[in-house]
Amino acid sequence: MFPAAMKTDASDLLPVAQLDVLAQEGFYGIAGPTEAGGLDLDQSTTSQVVESFASGCLTTAFVWLQHRNPVRAVAASDTPGLRDEWLAALCRGDRRAGIALAGNRPGSPILRASRTASDDVILHGEAPWVSGWGRVDVILVAARDGDDVISVLVDATEDPTLSARRLSLVGANASGTVTLRFRDHRVPADRVVGEEPHADVLVRDAAGLRLNGSLALGVVDRCCRLMGPSVFDERLVAVRGSLDDATAETSPAARAAASELAMRAAAALTVAHGSRSILLDQHPQRLAREALFLLVFGSRPPIRAELSRRIAGA
Ligand SMILES: Cc1cc2nc3c(=O)[nH]c(=O)nc-3n(C[C@H](O)[C@H](O)[C@H](O)COP(=O)(O)OP(=O)(O)OC[C@H]3O[C@@H](n4cnc5c(N)ncnc54)[C@H](O)[C@@H]3O)c2cc1C
Repeated sequence: MFPAAMKTDASDLLPVAQLDVLAQEGFYGIAGPTEAGGLDLDQSTTSQVVESFASGCLTTAFVWLQHRNPVRAVAASDTPGLRDEWLAALCRGDRRAGIALAGNRPGSPILRASRTASDDVILHGEAPWVSGWGRVDVILVAARDGDDVISVLVDATEDPTLSARRLSLVGANASGTVTLRFRDHRVPADRVVGEEPHADVLVRDAAGLRLNGSLALGVVDRCCRLMGPSVFDERLVAVRGSLDDATAETSPAARAAASELAMRAAAALTVAHGSRSILLDQHPQRLAREALFLLVFGSRPPIRAELSRRIAGA
């Protein structure tokens, strides 16, 4: 991935060949059960894989990583026929998925779901951030129905009730990130993945954010490799350790530390390489833009508070 990272970064949408290689090598199935052709990797190995891929090419790693959540959700689904229809194909990467978790947000819902008499689901509202558009076949959409969250698999194609507006990003722009708008979009009952109380979703949220920290560590790792031996080598090991050992209480601080380290490492690389760092065909400016993106992606209020405190030098 790394030799192609500059070209991928500059493209409008990452080349599908990057993702095809990951599928061929089995990486679309890392979260899937072995009986469905998955690798069922443990958390520690998964973190290392995510970090390695992000070091090679953040954009590719980012789009590929979205697939993990749908694989796990389908594997755990009770909906008759859903696992048989989708799980093995998702694990092979024959079908690729993104996520639109707008319905998981706290507060008043921006994306709502309701059931019809035949148990189909009607989606209405907005998912402000959805990555991988143009490179995924389906989106796992989470939408609020009262105090519950309903998850469904939605075909990743525009139609009169589903529109996508492309967003321009300073980093990882080739991730094909869009805002989706649903206007009474109907999803058949056999595409319902699950339903659970919103309160339970929020309790699980922090644990699900661990891997985003490995995206930041990947950027740090690449900066270290390009810089040669520096203090950042030790800092990378320390922050990785904090993320691996994090509890629900310490996780926001560990995530903030990873994002801060990516910013500092990219700044150090930029300084070390001098003026040529800011040429658009040079890695330091790409890594600095990616570090900027990782200051906000996958954030939550406690992560933001800790990061603000650190950046202010407190
Ligand atoms: C470039 C980019 C690409 C993204 N791609 C995706 C994507 O493919 N799919 C996707 O679902 N999200 C995606 N996100 C959204 C991201 O996961 C978080 O919503 C976002 O990083 C939080 O940003 P924010 O602090 O500005 O809050 P906002 O996005 O404005 O959210 C408002 C509030 O809701 C909370 N919140 C947002 N999402 C959740 C959630 N899922 N669970 C619990 N609380 C939540 C936030 O912490 C915040 O307090 C993307 C974000 C960016 C910047």
